Amino acid sequence: MSDNELKAPDQSRRKFLGAGAAALAGAAVAPGVSLMSVAEAKPLDQAVSDKNRWGMLIDTSRCATGCDACVTACNTENGLHRTEHPKTDAHWIRKVELQNRSTGRRVALPLMCQHCENPPCEDVCPTGASFRRADGIVLVDKHICIGCRYCMMACPYKARSFIHEELHDQVEYAPRGKGTVESCTLCVQRVDEKGERRDPACVEACNAEGHKAMYFGDLKDPNSEISQQLSTYESKEIRTDLALNTGVRYRGI
Ligand code: SF4
Ligand code: SF4
Repeated sequence: MSDNELKAPDQSRRKFLGAGAAALAGAAVAPGVSLMSVAEAKPLDQAVSDKNRWGMLIDTSRCATGCDACVTACNTENGLHRTEHPKTDAHWIRKVELQNRSTGRRVALPLMCQHCENPPCEDVCPTGASFRRADGIVLVDKHICIGCRYCMMACPYKARSFIHEELHDQVEYAPRGKGTVESCTLCVQRVDEKGERRDPACVEACNAEGHKAMYFGDLKDPNSEISQQLSTYESKEIRTDLALNTGVRYRGI
């Protein structure tokens, strides 16, 4: 199977995991405490459909070393603030630089949750808080996340952050919770917006800077710009060997 081929979501696996999580919760929960929602983790928006698979393409040849407009835009959009303890600050997207060991060639690229079709974070989550929507967006339900951080250990991309600090100045559309884990949502609030869908904040900022290194769109729509780009030019998943069929692809790595 080629890197770019999209497989149909494996719903049987999801159902099996949901049943497993419910059984585990049933065994652990104290008398009188109900965890009804455990087995019912489902899309926040019932209109979500597997007719779409939202994804991103990053053209590393256009991503400028030293530019972090995407990171700043993400923080602003989702109400992430820097603290006096930068090592524990949450990062939904970060800039990294890769160097080819044999040629010395360096590429700068933004790295975020890769919205895996087969997400290890979902596999290990004991409560069902980590889940993948039918349209491919991987989220954390902060109401049932217990902050165990198994998903952080399981994620090969180090895409998840634990919220250590007291929270302030949260944005209404992206509420956060101290003691829970979070990661890039592909700006789900923009995807679910009524009316015209907007690009994620990182993509918008990259375009505004004139770099145009990021594309967002529906991987299942052959006419979308992202599908056209993927079918025309070579691209790769990071860690193809893991067969996670990520929704984020890279060109030039
Ligand atoms: Fe989960 Fe990490 Fe994959 Fe995102 S990149 S879906 S957090 S395993
Ligand atoms: Fe699930 Fe939350 Fe634990 Fe992650 S930290 S595995 S989302 S309960």
